[in-house]
Amino acid sequence: MSDLRALYQEMILDHSKRPHNFRVIADAARADGYNPLCGDKVTIYLKMDGDRISDVSFQGSGCAISTASASILTDTLKGETRSEAETLFEDFRALVTGHEKGNGKSPLGKLTVFSGVSEFPARVKCATLAWHTLKSVLGGSHEVATTEGTDGEDLAAR
Ligand code: ZN
Repeated sequence: MSDLRALYQEMILDHSKRPHNFRVIADAARADGYNPLCGDKVTIYLKMDGDRISDVSFQGSGCAISTASASILTDTLKGETRSEAETLFEDFRALVTGHEKGNGKSPLGKLTVFSGVSEFPARVKCATLAWHTLKSVLGGSHEVATTEGTDGEDLAAR
């Protein structure tokens, strides 16, 4: 288990140092997100092809967890449909808030590296910021997505 944890930490650090899809997509829909607890900022760029995500990227600055989460989000979501993306968000949120303890059924793939976050409630919002921001892009919102007052995460932070 400690080997697994070390591997997860290494993957998170690797993504934070060399984030994937860290670029602007000029003609894409976009939304900004902000996590005031930690100061993380992220902008998600999203291009849809019908109901399918054809390209997704991000820009921003924040802690290792928020950057790694955005990086892995972009890797994970390319080619997924809107409803698949929403399901992944719910599953990911359950994972990092500790509602789902790796029961082996989860199709989360690389997102599993964030399972350890559930032990650090203050970092849950760092891990979910990119996902909240993605949800605003999908919903066509032009307001800045914030991690404040989000169900389940506040519960975990108590
Ligand atoms: Zn953070």
